[in-house]
Parts: sequence; C-alpha cells; structure tokens
Amino acid sequence: RNDQLELWDRENFFHPSTHLAEFARGDAPQRVITGGSGVFIEDRDGTRLLDAFAGLYCVNVGYGRPEIAEAIAAQAKELAYYHAYVGHGTEASITLAKMILDRAPAGMSKVYFGLGGSDANETNVKLVWYYNNILGRPEKKKIISRWRGYHGSGLMTGSLTGLELFHKKFDLPLAQVIHTEAPYYFRRPDTAMSEADFTAYCVAELEALIASEGDETIAAFIGEPVLGTGGIVPPPEGYWAAIQEVLAKHDILLIADEVVTGFGRLGSMFGSEHYGLRPDIITIAKGLTSAYAPLSGSIVGDKVWQVLEQGTDELGPIGHGWTYSAHPIGAAAGVANLKLIDELGLVGNAGTVGAYLTAALRDRLAEHPKVGEIRGEGMLAAVEFVADRESRQFFDASEKIGAKVAAALLAEGVIGRAMPQGDILGFAPPLCLSEAEADQIADATAAAVKASLG
Ligand code: PLP
Repeated sequence: RNDQLELWDRENFFHPSTHLAEFARGDAPQRVITGGSGVFIEDRDGTRLLDAFAGLYCVNVGYGRPEIAEAIAAQAKELAYYHAYVGHGTEASITLAKMILDRAPAGMSKVYFGLGGSDANETNVKLVWYYNNILGRPEKKKIISRWRGYHGSGLMTGSLTGLELFHKKFDLPLAQVIHTEAPYYFRRPDTAMSEADFTAYCVAELEALIASEGDETIAAFIGEPVLGTGGIVPPPEGYWAAIQEVLAKHDILLIADEVVTGFGRLGSMFGSEHYGLRPDIITIAKGLTSAYAPLSGSIVGDKVWQVLEQGTDELGPIGHGWTYSAHPIGAAAGVANLKLIDELGLVGNAGTVGAYLTAALRDRLAEHPKVGEIRGEGMLAAVEFVADRESRQFFDASEKIGAKVAAALLAEGVIGRAMPQGDILGFAPPLCLSEAEADQIADATAAAVKASLG
C-alpha cells in the first residue's frame, strides 16, 4: 500500500462536494479506485463493490468496455484535438451529431456540444435568451425550474437547481430564475389528494406563478423527466401532458434535462419519449459517453433552430463557444458508446431489469415500518425512509438516515447513494445490470436497513 497517496490526497486535492467541517476534523472517507468491470469497481485494497449508482448515474454501459477504450486510444493517436469552431469538424464529432439526431425524439434539428451537464444547461439558457432577442422580445427572459430539480452547479445552473444546498452562501438563485412546485406525490401537501389531484395542484401552482410574473417575462421551463438528485421521483399521473398544455398556452419553451434519463435509463431511448414530452431543447451528458470521456450536448428543436438560423450580419457569430466543444476524444467515446448500447440491447434491459430491481426492493422492504415508499422507473429506484409510516412522520435531515443506510450498504459490498434530502437511498445502476445482480442489491439493502434501522 502506498500511503503517500493518502497524504497527497489530503494535502492537495479539493474534492467536489467536500463536507469542509468533516474534512477539517480529518474524518473524510478516502478510497482509491483502481479498476472496474461490468457493474463492479475495485479499490487498491482489492475490495470489489457493486456500483449500484453507475458512478454518478453515468457509466451506463458498465465499466471496462474495451470497445470504448480502443476508440478513445485510436482517436488520441490519430488526432487528439482540434477545435470545432465553425468550418471545422472531425469524423467522430460529425458522426456523433448524426447518431444523436437519429435517436432523438421527433422535431429536433441540431446538436451543440459541451463537456458536462452544467455547461450544456448554461448553453440552453443562452440559446433561449438569444432566441427571444432575435424575436424582438428581450424581456421574455425568466426561466422556471422546479424545487428539487437538479441542473448543475454553476451560477446559472446552480440557480436552476432547486436544492437549498446549492444556493446557500452563494447568493443564488440569480434573479432570472424562479421555482415552482416539485411533482413529488409522496410529499404532497394533503394526503387525501389522488395522483390526478396532485397533478392538478402542481398545474395550478405553475399557472399562479406565471400569472404573478407575467408570461411576457418568462422564456422557458426546465425539468428532468424524472427528478433525479432531488430524490429520484417519477412524476404523478398526467403530469407532463398537463404541464405542456400550460407552457404552450403561454408560449414558454420546454427544456427537458435528460442528463440522467437520456440514452436508455428509463427503458426508452429518451425520457421525453417515455412520458410524451415534446421539448424545444434537450440536455444530454452522462450516458452520451457512459462517462468514458467528458461530453455533453444541447439538442436544439426545430422551433428554436428556425429562429436562430435567421441570424443577422449585424449580430455576427453567436458569442458562445467552448475550447473543448465536440472534443474528438469525447466524440469517439460517444460513437463507440451509442453503438454498444444498441448492440447489447441496453435500453430494453434497463426497462426489464430496472422493473425487476424495484420489485425486488419492494419484495424485501415494503413492509418495513421505517420504509415510507419504494419507487422506480426504468433503471432508477429509491427507498425513502420515514420515522413513522402510519403518522407520516419524516426524519429530520440532521439524522442523516440515508447516509447511515448507505454506509451499512457499503459494508455489504454495494454502493447506493444517500440523496441530498437526507432520508432517501437512491439507485441508478449501469444499464447492463443482470437480475442476479439486482437481487444482490436488494438483499444487501435489506441487510443494511436491518443493521441501521432495525
Ligand atoms: N442535469 C442533471 C439532470 C444532472 O443530474 C446533472 C448532474 O448530475 C447535471 C445536469 C449536471 O451535470 P454535470 O455534473 O456533468 O455538470
């Protein structure tokens, strides 16, 4: 064991999402990951863990795929980098844009490439603003997001994110961002509401927000087809159809943030297909390359593109470009990854094995007095813990129940994720999960819940 690494890590490396007080006390956990294969990762001590969160919902094809590694190596040898500014492309980036549009829902025109989900959502906001400026209505600028939505950690995207953790001490959200009700049926304001009632309630809240702000000031609505980091929450019955009706009535664009749901996670190629969304822009990242290299994109729909393409000589080139947009190595990884998703039938597998996983979790845990809800859609699942099921008493966030169960789960050899709300354990395994591996996750979760909550 090379303990030098542990020392250097502590001395030099500021990790994302560090709990700074814990770090100062010296009790931040450390693990050096050295390898991965299929749904498993391995650390330098030889500990093998079933990664039931696919990294951060991103290693969709699983670890250790030689097809993608070889495509990356070949691209790096041939041409590691050239920029993608207008007039230039590489075989990989041009091919990938075509492959994405071939798979995208109907009505999509172009792909603008970025690096991660956050910068893709920055792009989306700028494109929507540019669109309204070309249309001569610069005041139509506000973006509606949902509480509990997650759209990134930048200044604009952290504002879109509807989680307090991403706002506090940063003076966020920015003024152009407003939030509406989360479609979170389990936490509905009145338990007597049916799912349809709760959908009507979310719609009424949205209507009221639009009325108070004025629709002439609102450019777009952004949402994840299934709320991810906010708690892995599939929408209530009829939600997306009803929301889209409101947006159409007020000429508000829809941005579907498919960073998690794109490329198969729900058992459909896109979450938009899955729920009948007709978005104007789609955000993609994570599953686009299965995280073998960083790459994201904004898929721009016909309606927005038809305005953008008008451009003017006076406007000149659009003032928006990243050095690494459409990076050839990311694009090569994307091409190999999308081929592999098709060849291995992973979209179908996500649907069937994902449903099997949710059923297996219900089978082991549905009767547990501290389990309030087990929910899932495709290869996404969550267990929400409650202090008392009958009286719907919730745990206080300070009790960190999710983190306790996740730690016990890790001791059982499985990685789940304590979601930021504090009392939710989330699962988003690679899409290649087998039924036997789903059973392993469910058995380990049952053991972890027993060990930590009785
Ligand atoms: N949008 C969604 C729905 C996400 O889940 C994430 C990350 O988890 C992002 C955007 C931000 O992506 P990134 O972390 O690559 O910037």
